[in-house]
Amino acid sequence: MLSDAHCHLAGSRELANLQQQDQILTIINCQSPAEWEGNTLLTGAHQHLSFGIHPWQATDFRWPEVTPYLEKTAVVGEIGLDNVWTDVNLLDQSRVFEAQLQFAHDHRKPVILHTKGCERAVLKTIQKYPNRYMVHWYATKDYQRDYIRLDCFFTIGVDVLTDPAVAQLAQDVPLNRLLIETDGLEAIRWAGDTEATVADYPHVLHRSIRAVAALRGMAADELETQVYRNLEAFLA
Ligand SMILES: [Zn+2]
Repeated sequence: MLSDAHCHLAGSRELANLQQQDQILTIINCQSPAEWEGNTLLTGAHQHLSFGIHPWQATDFRWPEVTPYLEKTAVVGEIGLDNVWTDVNLLDQSRVFEAQLQFAHDHRKPVILHTKGCERAVLKTIQKYPNRYMVHWYATKDYQRDYIRLDCFFTIGVDVLTDPAVAQLAQDVPLNRLLIETDGLEAIRWAGDTEATVADYPHVLHRSIRAVAALRGMAADELETQVYRNLEAFLA
């Protein structure tokens, strides 16, 4: 029973079909109204979608364009702040981030967070909006304990094999808050598996599960079941 807590389809019908055939419980991310519409068609509404304005696109949409999709989605995200991979002004990012946090809080929808380089600012901001949070691809040793204290869920991805900060997190997250993600095929390729194809996708998930299970001294099939149940709990 595989699960992928955060995945970008990037328009791949092949990947959407594989996830459905293999019954992989997935949250597919949509970062624009057009992507929401496209992913709804690709998945035939058989998969969970999340919708949120990504920090890299903080200035690309007007709020009235976005709200119908925030109303439709069951999960808000990925949203957050980023001072590493984008030049978008941080004040603009913060404005859009907080508006979405407020919406998610008011409508009781769980949130997927992007924190790159802004881990401290995101940590401070989310404390104003109590909610169920998933911290996605958290790759620094800083503030791990602070996020754990807020009872966040955490995704562990392919770089658990290569990044000591991620390996540390994979060991320290409470077992019922642990999730596995791929972030999509492009992210797998970016992280070093340059040839990754749709056919490799289930193997990539299994590889991450085996790595995390080894770090925690658990059986891989036991961990696989646990992270599936955790994703169900996040979605509940
Ligand atoms: Zn992502």
